[in-house]
Amino acid sequence: MTDYEALATAAGRDLEDASAQEILQWAADHFGKRFCVTSSMEDAVVAHLASTVLPGVDVVFLDTGYHFAETIGTRDAVAATMKVNVITLTPKLTVAEQDAQYGPNLHDRDPDQCCALRKVEPLNRGLGGYDAWATGLRRDESPSRANTPVVSWDPKRRKVKLAPIARWTQDDVDAYVQANGVLLNPLLWEGYTSIGCSPLSCTAKPGEGEDGRAGRWAGSGKTECGIHL
Ligand code: SF4
Repeated sequence: MTDYEALATAAGRDLEDASAQEILQWAADHFGKRFCVTSSMEDAVVAHLASTVLPGVDVVFLDTGYHFAETIGTRDAVAATMKVNVITLTPKLTVAEQDAQYGPNLHDRDPDQCCALRKVEPLNRGLGGYDAWATGLRRDESPSRANTPVVSWDPKRRKVKLAPIARWTQDDVDAYVQANGVLLNPLLWEGYTSIGCSPLSCTAKPGEGEDGRAGRWAGSGKTECGIHL
């Protein structure tokens, strides 16, 4: 077991009941500039939390080439108004190059390969300069996220992974957004509850009574892009 693996395992246990700010402060104390936040720009909650403990923190955004205009606009608004350093990662292939190499609409035919090319590989490459990264994963989002630890060891990337709002509910998120005027993706007001890439096969509005991520790759059996597997 590496030092960081042991550190992450202990922190996952010791910080289980800590606040999101305390978890992020722990990361700032241990990793400083070698810590970043990743954001899908569905909202800027974790970026805002991190900016309060580590002003100027790197916020990493994956521009897959398939985002809604509202998501790109949210990213630009975050960069313009918050005390964070937004870093945009892009895939090796443009959408046109991917279409030429793999055929058009790979997202409809093989979404796992499309996510591997446009999300997983760019993130793995972009996280190379960090020892720890934070996500906005929450346990109440879906059954596959119900056991998310607040701090854990990410064995694939060999980094410490944080989920500072893992224990939060949607009500906690809403209260924090309201109290702090946090930026939200405008698509949330149109009925979307989880916002990824714009093809209908990747992001749809959930049906009545479905969990918040039910509209992601709906009907395909796929529930995660691969970043968190
Ligand atoms: S979410 Fe859809 S378009 Fe985006 S990378 Fe995955 S399969 Fe491709």
